[in-house]
Amino acid sequence: MPSLFDSFGRKIDYVRLSITDRCNFRCIYCMPANGEKFIPHKEILSYEEILRLCRLFAGLGIGTFKVTGGEPLSRKGAVDFIRDLKSLPGVEQVTLTSNGALLAPHVEELARIGLGGLNISLNSLRPDNYRTISRAQAGPDEVVQVLDLARRAGIRVKINVVPMRGRNEEDLEELTRFALTRGYILRFIEVMPVGLGQAQQGVAPNETKRMIEERFGRLTPADERLGKGPAEHWRVEGYGGGVGFISAVSDKFCARCNRVRLTSSGFLKSCLHHNAGIELKPLLRQGADDAALVTAIEEAVRQKPAAHAFAQDERRQASFLMHSVGG
Ligand code: SAM
Ligand code: SF4
Repeated sequence: MPSLFDSFGRKIDYVRLSITDRCNFRCIYCMPANGEKFIPHKEILSYEEILRLCRLFAGLGIGTFKVTGGEPLSRKGAVDFIRDLKSLPGVEQVTLTSNGALLAPHVEELARIGLGGLNISLNSLRPDNYRTISRAQAGPDEVVQVLDLARRAGIRVKINVVPMRGRNEEDLEELTRFALTRGYILRFIEVMPVGLGQAQQGVAPNETKRMIEERFGRLTPADERLGKGPAEHWRVEGYGGGVGFISAVSDKFCARCNRVRLTSSGFLKSCLHHNAGIELKPLLRQGADDAALVTAIEEAVRQKPAAHAFAQDERRQASFLMHSVGG
């Protein structure tokens, strides 16, 4: 099986695919409340174009794909796309990240397709605060129902929360109790200074860990591997569930980075933070053959920067909005 390495010797075996920049939510750390200009439909890669690229990624040894957005389920045909992606030769695992609000009617089908995992965002269990953060109509009860539905259908589920000072720091204990007692993994995603995230102040991971140890018990490192990503996972004695921390800022994990990102408009972005990458859409639409596309993919991977520079950034590179890249 071939493998793809960047110029720092990191093996790249994971692609995040943003299939749309649109979303039914307007989370305060991700999208403006209104006035957002979305990419015109004709500028978004068709599913056929994305699948063509995925077949080439798989041929280069990339077997793991995360479907994201915007809200991936807000794009028509997303579930059929996931089925087609899953059936490509060399594709080992396809997972989905979603806010959960549009998910319920698709859970059974996603389980049948063999979805490898589902990450669902849940920033508060209090309806008013959930809506303040997501600026959406949906409430946390709908998300809780979908979590249970997905688990009953046999899908591996993780919950994502972005802890923010003065926004949901008071909710973290309740969310932790919910996850631990119901047997879910709750992942604390450190807010990144990207786009609207720059206006939010994160809660330090160590502070959250201290809260969990004080309220629930000792954290012990989870033995089993609970994902393909950078999360650091912990079990809490006496509970079925667990917690994870994805701390891109305070625990810079760039040296272990294994991924690139394909935006919905076809930019192969080699680092979340930097602008480095290659526009694949012109090649796709000007009739490039597979060999030319593979060369472009390899070049984008070769140019992958060593690390993010959130600390040094002067708000130039990180001015993009997260929904346009897919997290
Ligand atoms: N709509 C889906 C959702 O919210 O789960 C998928 C797309 S969303 C852009 C992917 C992930 O990025 C979510 O877990 C979201 O919380 C996270 N995210 C968005 N903006 C962020 C920021 N500034 N810092 C950290 N995480 C962010
Ligand atoms: Fe939509 Fe996800 Fe961004 Fe929230 S974080 S606005 S749900 S894309």
